[in-house]
Amino acid sequence: MPRHDPHSYSDLQQGKIAHIDLRIQANFESHILKVEADYQLTEPVSGSLFLDTAGIDLKRAVADGQELQWDFDQQDELLGERLHLKELNKVSSFTLAFNTSNEARALQWLPEVQTAGGEHPFLYSQCQAIHARSVFPCQDTPSVRFTFSAEMEVPKALTAVMAAEQVGVRQRGESRVFQFKMPQPIPSYLFAIAAGNLVFRELGPRTGVYAEPQLIEAAAWEFAENEEKIVEAEKLLGPYLWGRYDLLILPPSFPYGGMENPRLTFLTPTSILGNRGQATLITHELAHAWTGNLVTNATWEDFWLNEGWTTYAETRITEVLTGKESADLMAVYDEQRLFEVMERVGMASILTRLKVPLEGLDPDETTTIIPYYKGCFFLKECEYAVGRERFNAFIQKYMGTYRFQSLSTEAFLDFLKQELPEVFEQVDVQKWIYEPSLTDKRRRPQSALYDEVQALLASYRQGTRPTREQVAGWQRYQILSFLQALPKQIPVEDCKYLEETLDLESKNDAGHYSYFYATCIASGYQEILPRVEEFIGRVGRLLYLLSIFRAMIASDWAKAHARRILEGVRERHHKITVHVINKLLEKADL
Ligand SMILES: [Zn+2]
Repeated sequence: MPRHDPHSYSDLQQGKIAHIDLRIQANFESHILKVEADYQLTEPVSGSLFLDTAGIDLKRAVADGQELQWDFDQQDELLGERLHLKELNKVSSFTLAFNTSNEARALQWLPEVQTAGGEHPFLYSQCQAIHARSVFPCQDTPSVRFTFSAEMEVPKALTAVMAAEQVGVRQRGESRVFQFKMPQPIPSYLFAIAAGNLVFRELGPRTGVYAEPQLIEAAAWEFAENEEKIVEAEKLLGPYLWGRYDLLILPPSFPYGGMENPRLTFLTPTSILGNRGQATLITHELAHAWTGNLVTNATWEDFWLNEGWTTYAETRITEVLTGKESADLMAVYDEQRLFEVMERVGMASILTRLKVPLEGLDPDETTTIIPYYKGCFFLKECEYAVGRERFNAFIQKYMGTYRFQSLSTEAFLDFLKQELPEVFEQVDVQKWIYEPSLTDKRRRPQSALYDEVQALLASYRQGTRPTREQVAGWQRYQILSFLQALPKQIPVEDCKYLEETLDLESKNDAGHYSYFYATCIASGYQEILPRVEEFIGRVGRLLYLLSIFRAMIASDWAKAHARRILEGVRERHHKITVHVINKLLEKADL
């Protein structure tokens, strides 16, 4: 029987997990979680039950006081090992005792030196897309949702947090045990834990932030407006159903901008700029509380349902909070990035479709921004077709109908057809969803702020460099747009001039520097290499690192340094980051 999800061994005909109660002991010496977990199923299961695992060392499986028969009977580099619980006899609950591997892909154990404070170790998880199976055996597909309760034991100097409600904490010897519950059902990829020297700061009635003490002040200021954002998001998407919305500022190795773990967004420290410049990143992660976490893609082939919808919601909320001018600027910038990425992967590539066939492919390696922006532009076309008012009503109905459910692209299209049939008369839905590239039959975004940047770029190409006065007061996205659209190679003198004129150093924005360093590398600015290395060692955000490593691979002089630099930061960055960049270098024979 073909699998319902190409990235999971689970067979949903067998029955589904409904609830898990976990008792976790975190060992910071061995980098292992020792876990005992009670599973409840939605209905009694007889015969076999397949669970996804990766590197799990299973000690014991028990149901109704009896040891269960089990075997890891299939394995695959991408999917991990299939745990086969055998000869079940009307089993509705069972207990597994196991250890995680010290190589568990989802878990990042950081030594003291890699934290802001430098005195305590840090642990955090990143389960999206298919890494929850390295933390606990589960049906690791976004189409299965379960509630959970958990306790987590950590050394007493540390604070444990989870993407869940904390309900208690107690002392046990030299440890502290934190208790959590998650009454709303989540898919496995939204399971998240972390522990470190963390403090908490309240920001608003429903909002707060966890960070190391060294970062808490800056973080509290940067994200002080989160409550206001929730209020705006609720107007668009309906009531916020997860209770609190807190942030966790992670150490620099965190591979993403943010991860929308429910109740507790995990966030890159590069988002703390001192000027609230990355406000849209929070808007995006917050919007996921609806689009993604509440209404979830059924498989990673339907990823655009999570990311396209979230990007659309982000632009709508940004428009209210910062004005149409800023939102338009972002839209044009996003469109340019979409073109850039589509050209890089190839316009005819399957990766430029919205529904992407991913059988046999690693979702970490195939993730691009295409489902985000192409998905968003598709939804905007749907909005234009029926007008904003009707589309707003559609959004609320969509969120209400599918809340706490997962759905496929096809189920979404059926719903769209039922609710807004006119969309299908005006928008070539099949082409948008199932065909590669981007149709010309769509409304292009326009932005005066972007045009201003283009005018200066045009004069630059004619030989006139922009002056300080001309770029003073530019918004973050204007600078990003400028750096993104620079000619691939420019004179080394111009690299130096532009860094100074755009005042990049004092803005200290890793997003700016990921473009800037890529340009410097392509332009043969060899003296910049020690700074690039310092950046790669300090900033763990995959998106930024990829643009620099891609530039190195494409450059004759920098190519020779790429492997050495990656090996130098291997222990510092997240396994996902190292894995993805390593694959890129291998493809280039480096
Ligand atoms: Zn997202």
